[in-house]
Order: sequence, then C-alpha cells, then structure tokens
Amino acid sequence: MSGLPGRLVLLGHPLGHSFSPRFQNAALALARIPLTYELLDVPRSALDSTIEALRQHRAAGNVTVPYKEDFHAQCDRLSATARAVGAVNTFWTAVDGALVGDNTDVAGFEAAARQLLAERGLPGRVALMGAGGAAAAALHAMKGWDGASVSVYSRTLARADRLVARLQSNATVVASLDEALAGAGLLVNATPVGLHDETTPVDVARLPAGIAVLDIVYRAGATALVRQARARGLAAQDGAVMLVEQGALAFERWFGVVPDRRAMWEAIDSGG
Ligand code: NAP
Repeated sequence: MSGLPGRLVLLGHPLGHSFSPRFQNAALALARIPLTYELLDVPRSALDSTIEALRQHRAAGNVTVPYKEDFHAQCDRLSATARAVGAVNTFWTAVDGALVGDNTDVAGFEAAARQLLAERGLPGRVALMGAGGAAAAALHAMKGWDGASVSVYSRTLARADRLVARLQSNATVVASLDEALAGAGLLVNATPVGLHDETTPVDVARLPAGIAVLDIVYRAGATALVRQARARGLAAQDGAVMLVEQGALAFERWFGVVPDRRAMWEAIDSGG
C-alpha cells in the first residue's frame, strides 16, 4: 500500500460487541496516524455495494462475522494464509488498486495458545469445538503443531467434515464432545457461546483434570467458561490475546509499523 488508506474500517454485522475500535484508535493516536478506525455495520443486502465503495476509497481494515468468507471471494489477491483458511480478516488496497486479503487470526490464535501453554508445552491431543471461521484459523495454526492430534466437535457435523476436508487437515471429526475431550490436553472453544451471556459451551465439571482451556470468545471480565475453569484450578484464557494480536498484526500490514501493544491492552483494560 502506498500512502494512507482512505478509510480504516471493521466490516461485519452486527458489531455492537466489538472492542477493536478501542485499541486500534489508541494505537493510531500513539503512532500519530491521522485516521479513525470506524465500525461499518452493514446488512448482507448491502455487502457487495459496500465492498465496491471500499475499493473506491482505497480502504483498509478488518472483516468479521459473518463476512470473512464472502470477502475472501471478492479479493483480487490473497496471502497464502488467507487462501489456505478460506477467510479474510484483514485487507488493504494495493498501489495498483487491487484489494488484498490476509488472515491474521491464525497468528493471533497461535500467540494466544503459545502464551497459555508456555509452561506445559504443546498438547498431544486437542479438542476443538466449532466449525466456522475461528475454528478454521485455529485448525490451520495447529497444522504446524508437531504430533498434536486434533478432534473437532461441532453441533453440525457436516460442517466440521467440510472444514477438515477444505483445510486438508488430518484432524478427526467426532460425534460427541466426550469423545473429543478424552485424553485432551487443550480445549479450544471456537463457537460464539458465552459471547453475550453467562452460558458455557461445555459443562466445566465434565472437563478432564489438568486440561487447559482456550476460549476464542472475548468478553469484558472474561467469559463464564474461563472463570469457571479457573475456579476448578484449570489453566484458562479467553480471546483477548488473540484479539489484540490479530489486530496488532493487521496494523503492521496496513502501515508497515509495529503498534504499541501495551497501549492496545491499556485501551481494552480501561474500557475506553
Ligand atoms: P461462525 O463462522 O459463525 O462459526 C460459529 C461456529 O460455532 C459454527 O460451527 C456453529 O455451528 C457453532 N455454534 C454457533 N452457535 C452455537 C451454539 N449455540 N452451540 C454450539 N455451537 C454453536 O463464527 P466464527 O467466525 O467462527 O466466530 C466464533 C466466535 O469466535 C465468535 O464469538 C467470534 O467473536 C470469536 N472470534 C474471536 C476472535 C478473537 O480474536 N478473539 C477471532 C475470531 C472469532 P453451526 O454450524 O451448527 O451453526
């Protein structure tokens, strides 16, 4: 990209829950970049015209639920990661006007998992719940985990089958959560359960002793899954690390500079 983008947006629907403007605007201010990170909440009926307008404005930004796959299909160029995952969460407009798509969720997930597992190392077995875009990013990252065997459990089994086939992953799709959890050293929640309320995607009492819990969902004050797992003495972390990391890596793609991650964290923690 040459020069600043015409607009910097988060495209999705609905966007009421997003924490991204808080920490992106804090990083922009600190880097003295004269842009505001805006929420662009559009219904599906307006998606095509919105993407056309973003091209005209030479925009950059992020894409979130439910448009990551749609946006991937509209990009002129894709990073190898975005192509492999089949979803775009970060985009910009190149000098030649091409819309370029990348996926920083993968590296965000990797960073969050490495932080959670720093003391114990990577697990031999992983239980992954969900089969959407976040699960795809996690599954792609875990392809690089030597020797880890991943079991995918999703309420719509056919979607899990399609995901594993599309990613050419050697993960196993299982028909019950208990099967996924048997012998697992890590549980990854990649469903949205717990995003808006105190529900948990699994009864925490059923989790095997010693399992670590990585909830991709982020919620102020931590999700119920993470709080209940910690109360049981399990190592657990919510989606905040992944959120900040995918955002920091997106910032690097847009501007070619490393943002101040501490300022990003302060903006999230302060709620401002
Ligand atoms: P998605 O593409 O819509 O996929 C959601 C998956 O969860 C699907 O497999 C869906 O199953 C399943 N699911 C939905 N509701 C469920 C329920 N009540 N019980 C069991 N399974 C359910 O969404 P996504 O993009 O993967 O995002 C999932 C979550 O991750 C969202 O909350 C999002 O905010 C979060 N996320 C966080 C970060 C981060 O940086 N921390 C990054 C990406 C995503 P069906 O196919 O049966 O509907």
